[in-house]
Amino acid sequence: MSKKFSFFFLDLDDTLYSYEPCHEAGLTGLINFAVTNLSLTRESVLVAYKSARKEINARLTGQAASHSRLLYAKEICERLGLSVVNYSMPLEKAYWDHFFIKMVLREDVLKFLESIKARKWKLALVTDLTTEIQLKKLSHLGIGDLFDVIVTSEEAGKEKPATEIFNLAFRKLKAEKFSSVMIGDNYEKDVLGARAFGISAYYFGTKEGETHCINSFTDAIQVFL
Ligand SMILES: [Mg+2]
Repeated sequence: MSKKFSFFFLDLDDTLYSYEPCHEAGLTGLINFAVTNLSLTRESVLVAYKSARKEINARLTGQAASHSRLLYAKEICERLGLSVVNYSMPLEKAYWDHFFIKMVLREDVLKFLESIKARKWKLALVTDLTTEIQLKKLSHLGIGDLFDVIVTSEEAGKEKPATEIFNLAFRKLKAEKFSSVMIGDNYEKDVLGARAFGISAYYFGTKEGETHCINSFTDAIQVFL
């Protein structure tokens, strides 16, 4: 029997849905747009995407905009000599349009979230990335209204594992530390970040030496409900 929690803090990306197939589809969509409309080779677009992402990640480490596909697209345009104004937004749109097509909730996520709501417990989403795209993801997944509080790293000013983002969600939720738990797939950001803030945390995945792990939301229902 696990400890009883009534305030649940959840990560979004790669926790509530599987990220990699979505990203692969998004990247293929972006590349196909460039090949079809801009007469570029797949290889040149892929190389530009990878180097653009590396550059933006390095420059904006710890900030929500470090993940911005619009900034990656703008950087791609600059690197390939394309019009930034004409093509940054269409490239970004091609990425997200194809990303969303693949995005589905993991098994039992909805059942888990609805069970929490049915018990009148509280739910916060604590997520790195910009607010606009995270709200679009929640809308697409059809789970946005189940969260009492949604906090992005853009509005917190810092990314996980920084205490600020957990603290902002915690304050908005009016939670109690002893009955709060964070669940996420990134050990350093989600698990160690939440513990450093002073709440319990479970790792979504398997890790040697870590006893607080869940491997699915079917598992989570068993552990927490
Ligand atoms: Mg994640």
